[in-house]
Amino acid sequence: MTFHIELRTRDGQPLAFDCAPEQNLIDAAAAVSILFPSQCRQGSCGACHASVTAGDYTLGAHSPDALPSSPNGQSGQSGAILMCCTTPQSDLRIALPFDHSKILFQSVPRRSADITALEPVAENTVRLELRLQPNDDCGSAAEFEPGQFIEIEVPGSDQRRAYSLANTGNWDGRLELLIRLQPGGLFSDFLRSSAQPGTVLAVRGPQGAFGLDAASLRPRWFVAGGTGLAPVLAMLRHMAEFGESHEARLFFGVNRESELFALDELERLKADLPQLKVTLCVWKPAGDWQGFSGTPADALQQALSEAPVQPDIYLCGPAPLVNAVESAAAAFGVPMERVFSERFLPG
Ligand SMILES: Cc1cc2nc3c(=O)[nH]c(=O)nc-3n(C[C@H](O)[C@H](O)[C@H](O)COP(=O)(O)OP(=O)(O)OC[C@H]3O[C@@H](n4cnc5c(N)ncnc54)[C@H](O)[C@@H]3O)c2cc1C
Repeated sequence: MTFHIELRTRDGQPLAFDCAPEQNLIDAAAAVSILFPSQCRQGSCGACHASVTAGDYTLGAHSPDALPSSPNGQSGQSGAILMCCTTPQSDLRIALPFDHSKILFQSVPRRSADITALEPVAENTVRLELRLQPNDDCGSAAEFEPGQFIEIEVPGSDQRRAYSLANTGNWDGRLELLIRLQPGGLFSDFLRSSAQPGTVLAVRGPQGAFGLDAASLRPRWFVAGGTGLAPVLAMLRHMAEFGESHEARLFFGVNRESELFALDELERLKADLPQLKVTLCVWKPAGDWQGFSGTPADALQQALSEAPVQPDIYLCGPAPLVNAVESAAAAFGVPMERVFSERFLPG
């Protein structure tokens, strides 16, 4: 048995697919190559929120931060849903809060990739470089937009983990990832104990709608927490490659100085993008720290109080940093649609 799901985008375009009662809406749509904007796929980030306008459904467990108005696990009645944890109990009609252009109509490509480098870059942080194996569809090319992520299938398990791409699209299949090793983490342990150059991994992607708004002429301010720098590096590298002259600022934060990384690359980017100002933020610095002491949200708040023009804010890192920056931006009147974010959530 399946239910019929009819949807309408913000700009009034209709679309439809069928969904089994035990299937969530994101998976059912993906099975027929309809990819909605979504990130964590586990009810934590809120990226796939929508409104049911007719029909019955069950809203599974989710974070209150992602959908504050609906209690966890309740059979939905309010209409507000996260599509990744909603299963239909009847045919449904759904209003989508984004335009048709944000939906991709393709299956997520799955490709094999060889590990070509795995090296520590800071305390508990590694740089993982992969090279896609050529296939008939794409040859060797790695085609993706700055800000997108891939999922890696964790060898020996049925689990996948998402990682943002730190480099830009290229013809020779290179994918560069910056990964914070989590204590006892499934993929982190694989990287610590088994991964080595030559190991073959299966990757799915590119995915995700986080990226530069090419149409906006506002200053671009980037806020990165830890390995949240990865998609920001991709965007800055893209700006350098295309000679984009938007005023740009980066607030890059870590807890301790020993966790800083990619500093040489940031110096190179400053040479290529003379308008780029970088603020390194250390939350708990040692005595002789010369940079900003505090979080990147604190540094951003200070800078916003002196900004002559409201910037677009591109923001990536752990959920508490994303929440703090969104609050700071709101306090200084930056409209939410000018704050573009990606939350790094546990898989
Ligand atoms: C769209 C997206 C992009 C991402 N990109 C990156 C990236 O570029 N670099 C990167 O390092 N990570 C990134 N992540 C997070 C990444 O997908 C994994 O969640 C992370 O690497 C942990 O995986 P694991 O298998 O090692 O740990 P798991 O086995 O999933 O978790 C082990 C333990 O660590 C905790 N944990 C896991 N992740 C975190 C975290 N981020 N903060 C605090 N505690 C945590 C878990 O709660 C658990 O207790 C991204 C996540 C998303 C959704």
